[in-house]
Amino acid sequence: MSFAQQKLQEVVFLARTIKGDNTRTEQEFIESTWSTFEEFSPANQSVQERLKTLKIDDFQRSLSYGLRLDSQISLPLFSTTTIGSFPQTSEVRQLRVRYKRGELNQSEYEAAIDAQIAESIKLQEELGLDVLVHGEFERTDMVEFFGQQLSGFAFTENGWVQSYGSRYVRPPIIYGDVVRSEPMTVREFQVAQSLTEKPVKGMLTAPVTILNWSYPRIDVSRSEQAFQIALALRDEVADLEAAGAKVIQVDEPALREGLPLKPQRWSEYLSWAVDAFRLATAVAQPQTQIHTHMCYCEFGDIIKDIERLDADVISIENSRSNNQTLREITEGGYSHQVGNGVYDIHSPVVPTTEQILQQLRTGVANLPAKQIWVNPDCGLKTRGWEEVIPSIKNMVEAAKILREEVNTTVK
Ligand code: GLN
Ligand code: ZN
Repeated sequence: MSFAQQKLQEVVFLARTIKGDNTRTEQEFIESTWSTFEEFSPANQSVQERLKTLKIDDFQRSLSYGLRLDSQISLPLFSTTTIGSFPQTSEVRQLRVRYKRGELNQSEYEAAIDAQIAESIKLQEELGLDVLVHGEFERTDMVEFFGQQLSGFAFTENGWVQSYGSRYVRPPIIYGDVVRSEPMTVREFQVAQSLTEKPVKGMLTAPVTILNWSYPRIDVSRSEQAFQIALALRDEVADLEAAGAKVIQVDEPALREGLPLKPQRWSEYLSWAVDAFRLATAVAQPQTQIHTHMCYCEFGDIIKDIERLDADVISIENSRSNNQTLREITEGGYSHQVGNGVYDIHSPVVPTTEQILQQLRTGVANLPAKQIWVNPDCGLKTRGWEEVIPSIKNMVEAAKILREEVNTTVK
């Protein structure tokens, strides 16, 4: 309601301005409101300085994809992984509610989250996945979680918006320069990685998705806000790497939805949007494998921009578009690795091994086997374990069968 009220004030103000009816006091009111705001939220000098001194190299990994590939983690053909989140059961949600209400203190809460992480690592090992995730049990929503840890973001108690089907999120409001004061995800990564010999993915949300799923500032351009978020994420990538992450996934599902309506304005948007992703990730050493994930995104007309992200691996939605996304990617001659979502996580149906194999065979027909990853088409937070466990089991089984098939053909 307060947003609605504010919009009405703006409409009245605009109408008066157009008619030339604005009184001087209204102008003064606006100016003084801005100066009060600036006093309340002054620019952050160190962020401003970093932005001013950015160099071309800050946007570029030190080695190109072809040259860094061999130094990265070696994995089986058709590596299996998931997109990040595991079921947000009522038990997990209850933990967060009790923590918020003060019924659990920080160490009790963290211990309970760690127990969830431990269970999920054990399960992923039993299922035979190759690259594991910690499960995102500590996250409410992939944007809110990061906003809550960065300064420059404000939140509403009840400003819910519908995001997908019957799911709702409370988008953060960016009001000031974005500053990361401490690592945001390293603790949970370390807990997960300490429990397994298999690689665990560091898991971040990319700058443009954080920006596009928040209410942006109006006094600073969107590109500058994306770069500020990118700098915070860049420090997080470096910290995850220092903590031992060999694989880091930086999710950018909202890249395409930020495209301006007019196609002639696309290239300007894509130029800074892709640069923001590069700024966040290019700090990674050549041996660190950077993944990105995008769901429900048509690629055909932006394939060159997807390529320019320079992620080593991209996981995409594919199961609902009947392989159209894959076709678009392969027709564009994409040379990096691709995880075609092999089943639709938005459906409660457990895919059979045969269905997954069929999906994978389309991949094999279109792309060299070395480029193919095997994963669901999105995070699993909306599903129950009773669906997730058999689905992943069938997915891992399908990858094994395919490995044998391909080895036989090669011999
Ligand atoms: N890593 C996130 C998850 O698994 C990605 C979600 C998304 O693409 N929307 O939930
Ligand atoms: Zn997704």
